[in-house]
Amino acid sequence: MFRLPICPHCGTIYRYQDTKKAIRNKENTCYHCQKKFKAKIFPGMLVGALIPLVLCIGFNIFLLSRMKDLLLLPLFAVTLVFLLIVYLIVPFFTRFKKDDKEE
Ligand SMILES: [Zn+2]
Repeated sequence: MFRLPICPHCGTIYRYQDTKKAIRNKENTCYHCQKKFKAKIFPGMLVGALIPLVLCIGFNIFLLSRMKDLLLLPLFAVTLVFLLIVYLIVPFFTRFKKDDKEE
């Protein structure tokens, strides 16, 4: 499950940066076989995003319980880091589907 997507036509493995680009575009053309496909984020991504979210909330509560004074900046920084992790793993939860109109 935790791998980068491949072209549904020719099986070319897409690199991380190319996958990010494919998610932004609605219609994609494979650079290898020139056929069209669509990028779809895997439904498992919701579960994948939930785990960091729970960890994030748990870590925030842990920080809060340790603090003598309420400092919002560390809490904000921790949340930001977790959001960044979720953002970075999105390409690993993306699958390429054949464009139905083509066939
Ligand atoms: Zn291809």
